[in-house]
Amino acid sequence: MSKTSRMRHTKTITAPNPGPLTLGGTNTYVFGNVVIDPGPDTGGHLERIASTSNVEIILLTHRHPDHASGAAQLSGMTDAPILAFGNSVSDGEEVAGLVALHTPGHARDHLCFWDARTGTLFSGDLIAGRGSIMVAPPEGDLRDYMDSLHRVKNLSPERILPGHGPEITDARSKTEEYIRHREEREALIVSALDAGADSIRSILKSAYADTPEDMLPYAEMALKAHLIKLGRTDLI
Ligand SMILES: [Zn+2]
Repeated sequence: MSKTSRMRHTKTITAPNPGPLTLGGTNTYVFGNVVIDPGPDTGGHLERIASTSNVEIILLTHRHPDHASGAAQLSGMTDAPILAFGNSVSDGEEVAGLVALHTPGHARDHLCFWDARTGTLFSGDLIAGRGSIMVAPPEGDLRDYMDSLHRVKNLSPERILPGHGPEITDARSKTEEYIRHREEREALIVSALDAGADSIRSILKSAYADTPEDMLPYAEMALKAHLIKLGRTDLI
């Protein structure tokens, strides 16, 4: 049997909540009778999900509002239980044909869902379809995030269906690119520190020189995550 014929049909429904961090909006995936990340209760989004499938299970990659705030309402509409990390799901467990992988970093409770039959990873907010993911302390932890990326890389995924942005078909190189991006940024930060930079502002100036002005507040959060990883909390 070919891979394609064994593939359960996956439908993407993007919520109408676009923004700098949500990109085009939160992607809700309907995988058979499973809904991954119902997203917010906005603009008829939950009704569209409910009309697409006979929803039996609601899975959450994590509990941030842009992924999870509509979950309780969708559960009420469909009688489907909500499953999330620490709530009936633990690391490595199989749920409705998908393996749950605890992948903290962006959020402590973050799960990716892995379909080994097709090599598909539902990545939530571990990897986005474009741009990068916010790892913002105190919830975000860059050391955990890097470990999670390496874990996913070791699966050699064929394709990634992200929480935000378009489907990723070059999944392996995207995962490697994500790891490299953080490593390169960390090298720039270490160089800035070695050159005597001793404040958030001065490190930002040299290590994030390519960052557009309107993205600097996000860069500052990302920098803090690096400084914690480097043991330089004295600069925060
Ligand atoms: Zn999130």
